[in-house]
Amino acid sequence: MDFSNLKKEDNEIYNLIEAEKDRQMEGLELIASENIVSKAVLEALGSYPVNKYSEGYPAKRYYKGNEVIDKIENIAISRLKKLFNAPYANVQPNSGSTANAAAYFAFLNYGDKIMAMNLNHGGHLTHGHKVNFSGKSYNFVQYGVDQTTQLIDYDALFELARKERPKLIVSGYTAYPRAVDFKKFRTICDEIGAICMADISHIAGLIAGGEHENPVPYFDVVSTTTHKTLRGPRSAVLMCKQEFGEKIDKAIFPGLQGGPHEHVIAAKAVAFKEALQPEFKNYASQIVKNAKALAKYLQDYNYKLVSGGTDTHLILVDVRANGISGIEAETVLEKAGIYCNKNTIPFETFSPWDPSGIRIGTAALTTRGMKENDMLFVAEQIHLALQNKNDEIKLKEIKEKVNLFCNQFKFY
Ligand SMILES: *Cc1c(COP(=O)(O)O)cnc(C)c1O
Repeated sequence: MDFSNLKKEDNEIYNLIEAEKDRQMEGLELIASENIVSKAVLEALGSYPVNKYSEGYPAKRYYKGNEVIDKIENIAISRLKKLFNAPYANVQPNSGSTANAAAYFAFLNYGDKIMAMNLNHGGHLTHGHKVNFSGKSYNFVQYGVDQTTQLIDYDALFELARKERPKLIVSGYTAYPRAVDFKKFRTICDEIGAICMADISHIAGLIAGGEHENPVPYFDVVSTTTHKTLRGPRSAVLMCKQEFGEKIDKAIFPGLQGGPHEHVIAAKAVAFKEALQPEFKNYASQIVKNAKALAKYLQDYNYKLVSGGTDTHLILVDVRANGISGIEAETVLEKAGIYCNKNTIPFETFSPWDPSGIRIGTAALTTRGMKENDMLFVAEQIHLALQNKNDEIKLKEIKEKVNLFCNQFKFY
């Protein structure tokens, strides 16, 4: 990338941006919600549409001078529809949280009942956390996973839905490592007359690549971020049935947002084109192969995995079972150049500030070109670091080894 002007005009920020690039290059990025975008996506992100105001939708703008912007946004919409076989698409949401807010806003009144996953079992903040707009504006009831299998308990979910009769049910998770049975959600929503919503933020890339069942064609509304397994810019989109298109559009603009970020929409269009290429199927399949390999190697070291493994990009490790807390694990691993996050596990008995698990994902490592055999190295370093959690010298040695290893998988 050419940052010569930035370097000249603001050396302080330039140096920090370069330092962040080095950190990303030298470390093992295991944060399940992160990925590495292509140079083409980066270039679109730093481009001229950033200067434009385009409130409204293609051919219905509140400002003049939008002929070119309309073309960009229409291309993004048509690529997204093709990618997910979506009847209708809105590419304007600025983030996953806004996309979810818009979906609720489109279909519900404040105070209405929504059913979503228990946050300790893998639900997102916007699925009813009490400090979030969702929990403050709507009345959430929560389903969860079965205590023994740690898989979604669909029987309990059906029972709860029949009793509570929510107006909308959300299937979507930040920390659920297993495949979701979307058809079951459609069935119960049809039975009780609820709006059927999926939030596929984490698994969108796996769905686009054919590695997970796709709910988009038959769900009422589907939200997703574009920056996790989908490997696009930090942003989001909404897809829905044709009949709900107008409601969704109005909820985004003028409901929740003003001018859309058209440079980000251009970058989303580029990412959708990348995801439509045949190679993206290989990418999605490699993400899952890597996650399964990493899960197995961790189990070989006696780590306890929530639900006993993974079907996706994501692994939830119950590190407390090995005598270490979530905070301690993420802190020690960071010292070794390995990035992940602490996470609650189902039926968590500790506080969310120091939960029992860590969440790891393989999307970013797979983008760098790592394969199953490389996951052995990753598992070894995780284990070594956790075993030597109080030995600063040893942790530094591991970090150096991790740096050397990562240097074989360059990007940018
Ligand atoms: C990441 C995520 C979001 C929120 O996305 P932001 O862009 O961070 O607002 C919403 N729902 C789920 C399930 C997510 O994983």
